[in-house]
Amino acid sequence: MAHRAKKMHVVFASAEAAPFVKTGGLGDVAGSLPAALNNAGADVIVMVPKYDTIAQEYKDQMEHVADFYVSLGWRNEYCGLERLVLGGVTYMFIDNERYFKRSYPYGFFDDGERFAFFSKAITESLQHLPDGWTCDVLHCNDWHTALAPVFLREFYQGLPIYDQVKTVFSIHNIAFQGQFSDKVLGDILGMSHIPAAANQLRCDESSINYMQGALRYTDAITTVSPTYAAEIQTPEFGEHLDGVLRERSYCLSGILNGIDVDGFDPATDPRIVANYTVDDMAGKAACKAALQAELGLEVRDDRPLMVMVTRLTRQKGMDLVMYALDRILSGGVQVAVLGTGDACYEDGLRYFASAYPGTCAACIKFDPALSQRMYAAADMFLMPSLFEPCGLSQIIAMRYGTLPIVRETGGLRDTVTPYNYVTGEGTGFSFAHFNGDEMGDAVFRAARLFWDNRDAWNMLVRQAMERDFSWVRSAGTYMDLYRSLRPDVEVEVGVEAVGQAPEAEAAPASEQPAPEAVAESAPAPEPVAEAKPEAASASAETPAVEAPEPEKKPAAKKPAAKRTTTKRTTAAKTTTKKAATTKTATASKTATAKTTAKSTAAKPATAKAAATKATAAKSTAAKTTAKAAAAKTAETKAPATKAAAAKTSTAAKKTAAAKTATATSTATKTAAAKKTTAKKAAELAAAKPEAEAPAAEPAKKTATRKVPRSRS
Ligand code: ADP
Repeated sequence: MAHRAKKMHVVFASAEAAPFVKTGGLGDVAGSLPAALNNAGADVIVMVPKYDTIAQEYKDQMEHVADFYVSLGWRNEYCGLERLVLGGVTYMFIDNERYFKRSYPYGFFDDGERFAFFSKAITESLQHLPDGWTCDVLHCNDWHTALAPVFLREFYQGLPIYDQVKTVFSIHNIAFQGQFSDKVLGDILGMSHIPAAANQLRCDESSINYMQGALRYTDAITTVSPTYAAEIQTPEFGEHLDGVLRERSYCLSGILNGIDVDGFDPATDPRIVANYTVDDMAGKAACKAALQAELGLEVRDDRPLMVMVTRLTRQKGMDLVMYALDRILSGGVQVAVLGTGDACYEDGLRYFASAYPGTCAACIKFDPALSQRMYAAADMFLMPSLFEPCGLSQIIAMRYGTLPIVRETGGLRDTVTPYNYVTGEGTGFSFAHFNGDEMGDAVFRAARLFWDNRDAWNMLVRQAMERDFSWVRSAGTYMDLYRSLRPDVEVEVGVEAVGQAPEAEAAPASEQPAPEAVAESAPAPEPVAEAKPEAASASAETPAVEAPEPEKKPAAKKPAAKRTTTKRTTAAKTTTKKAATTKTATASKTATAKTTAKSTAAKPATAKAAATKATAAKSTAAKTTAKAAAAKTAETKAPATKAAAAKTSTAAKKTAAAKTATATSTATKTAAAKKTTAKKAAELAAAKPEAEAPAAEPAKKTATRKVPRSRS
């Protein structure tokens, strides 16, 4: 029977993790995804700063594991590692009181230095982990940890325990990038003497951008929903990083967030007034009456109660709320908002609460317990975001049988199915444009259903509550990604290999066959003169695939016959199409680099990479064309947002046209002219999957050497 030789060791680094520290969705994700990854077969260590605000009960349970010093420019800073195991997940807290003994997590003048320290400490910690635990994949989240992949490649590459580490960077909100004066580059990061790093971090003549650094250095990029993954590659949503993301689209994917379905369960939640289930909703009515009384609203079950639990910012659609609230409140819908944020919205909500006593309540604070009572009590949950990477609030709302009313963007679009009057399908209501009247219409569509057709309403509530928002599927997708990056770690040991030492099965990449093995045994190659131009045209989109990288490792020996009998199905099964593209292209690059004197041998691999690139470009173009079409459809709807929609449409069309041109040109030149060679090379690759594994290393190195695009 097959079994895993070793678990995938993942260090998951985040500036927040519930229940220790949470200011938004990142805290929820880091507090729940690692447990799901453990269930999916990984062994995860979560790294978080040891903030002063962490509850004393947790601090008391922490165990000191190690301490060392972290260099940061001219500084040498103390770093303690404190361990705590909670819910089966190991947490390592990074301790430095100068940086983290503060009354709240972010928003200080020296955040650039604080999170540069955090990132360097994460990287340094990898050699201080207990019990000989070695990191296979370093998974970083948002700008606070974005420098870790940069430090890892620039300062630690070459050290044995760092050499094999692959990095994943997840974007939870691209609006927050960590952009600072370029003085930070020398003074804090100690990188001004490394031109490649300086180039890749620089975003304008006087600034550097931490997230941009991660996007250029990391091995794989993810974001928290498929729609947002497409959106951030456009100028409308990319916040000036869309160019970098388009360049690296071959390693970018959207993996939808889940929630901790046990922690957010109306059947067991101790924070709510009465528990309830999808089959017995009496408790929800009790929750509603109790909240109405608590917030000073009229206690009436015939009034739909709509709530928001949110940061009060423009991103969350507060402009639309301010615009439409008069209409909504005077139309008989009760509204309660819990949130903190921009003063103009806080003041606006206080005004409406005083203007509509008994109908509107404004709770200007951050209160997780109250938020649970609101999710449980409400009939509707409003989330009209300008953009939304994923959004967890609407998911939590559905879990509690509260129907979301959302704008169709990012993860809101991926998680809420709008009500279909004909079929009865749906889990909420939605509107397309960032327009207050459209939002108001959606609110009254929901309210009318609540008033006029309670059976249909109850059916929607049931459908929302029965949706599966657990982490199971997404954790599996993350595991697939990790395995595609580290196919050497979790090698399944088959019957034929029983008795063989696990170490021998999970051979490190350096021991796997060199790409030349593929190239040399490939069929008659195309002339170099023809193969090269296509490769060059492919590089216009993904230069990472092209630039040759000096060989660091000695040519690896061929695997023993027994190794080939080892089941490599895990890697083969789980490697995504994109990963396959990257790998293939990488193999080509390595082959090219290695065979200056052996150009003939490298050519089939180069042709194969170009052909694969053509396919990738084609599919990207198709995606972008679909987006252009969507933008065009949107254009016909809302006069108030027509200009914005037109802009989206035009930009998307331009991108689509440009991509199509690239795809066509590459496809024509490469896929057609080199069809035969590429096909043979692909067949060869399929026949020898292990031969491509070691190529991943040079790909990552090349990515670190790219010259950044201008952000203007
Ligand atoms: P974002 O991360 O962009 O703020 P999400 O919807 O992804 O938005 O996650 C927000 C999380 O923070 C949810 O769990 C929500 O309940 C919680 N939250 C937001 N504001 C408050 C608040 N004022 N009090 C308590 N919880 C809040």
